[in-house]
Amino acid sequence: MTIALNNSIAAMTPELIEWRRDFHRNPELLYDLPRTSRIVAERLRALGFDQVVEGVAKTGVLGVLHGAMGPASAKEKRALFRADMDALPIQEASGADHASVSPGRMHACGHDGHTTMLLGAARRLAETRPFDGTLIFCFQPAEEGGAGAQAMIDEGMLERFPVKGAYAVHNWPGLPVGEFAVVRGPAMASAEAFNITVEGTGGHAAMPQRVRDPIVAASHIVAAIQTIVSRVVDPLDNAVVSVTSFHGGEAFNVIPDKVEMKGTVRTFSVAVSKSIEVELKRICERTAEAFGTNARLHRPPKLPYPATVNHPAETELALDAMRAVAGFDRVRDDMRPVMGSEDFAFLLRKVPGAYIFIGNGDTAGLHNPKYDFNDEAIPYGVAYWTELARRVLPA
Ligand SMILES: [Zn+2]
Ligand SMILES: [Zn+2]
Repeated sequence: MTIALNNSIAAMTPELIEWRRDFHRNPELLYDLPRTSRIVAERLRALGFDQVVEGVAKTGVLGVLHGAMGPASAKEKRALFRADMDALPIQEASGADHASVSPGRMHACGHDGHTTMLLGAARRLAETRPFDGTLIFCFQPAEEGGAGAQAMIDEGMLERFPVKGAYAVHNWPGLPVGEFAVVRGPAMASAEAFNITVEGTGGHAAMPQRVRDPIVAASHIVAAIQTIVSRVVDPLDNAVVSVTSFHGGEAFNVIPDKVEMKGTVRTFSVAVSKSIEVELKRICERTAEAFGTNARLHRPPKLPYPATVNHPAETELALDAMRAVAGFDRVRDDMRPVMGSEDFAFLLRKVPGAYIFIGNGDTAGLHNPKYDFNDEAIPYGVAYWTELARRVLPA
């Protein structure tokens, strides 16, 4: 970290830790973030932001900050920095003094830290505005399965605030504090959900000749689905197809007439995901038919998340900023892709950008009840965003 940056950011870090712990104590879910979004908007206004827009996709907040040379209307001189604000429906077991005061809710993905790091950068950048152009600070709701980024896009965020690039940071347990990592190209998988309904003819369990057993048919469907990744997907592509729920029947002596299943598909490309869909449908319908039953593959209303794909030029800019903060040896540019999914993918489909990881140290994993964001990472995150601003919009 450069000395000047270090001193100034170190001075504000104790207060940022208080902000982070306050968010942690008061987790809110999905789009229902009245407290968190109010605090974010109040802080941006207090920092002298040129414009603060609240209520985008219910509780999203956009802060507009012009550089020292004044506002820029051309897209080429505008960039978007994004943090997520929502928590998870998990009962916290971290034992921390600042543990959640809301039963059954916790910041188990570190979005309290992401919001704080971006607010810290907002504070630092608002003081000196060391860039030429306009920065849009985007605080989004509903990253955890609610497609909040897509909802903000649907409400016209990118038409109202066109940008040439979009950037996001996620903490990464297991990566030491003070280190950064990025995946080149496809970084996180797409996530799609599917439902399968198998209908047969139920009856007495002791008279199988009089039924068409959907449990047996559904079991064969589950087994056949296991061949999609091994026999249909190119071995050099990555994919997961998992059946995660299987429900049918109530009694030991009754064969039910219906089985309902749920599952998920994860890939890094639209082509692979399409070929899996075709195969899933064929396996369901034809296998069910072989057992004298009917099966239907259908999609739940939940919006599928696309793959998160980093763009080359923006990844290089992000790498330059990470290396300036942490030093060349503490930045990994060859991290392997992750099969989890990320809502920032919706933004990266519209605008080139980069999604990077910041070390959270040796903590419990993401979405674990014992997880806690590591406050020691805060100054590194603030420094990254500050460096990135200078590099994306050089003065
Ligand atoms: Zn998460
Ligand atoms: Zn997360």
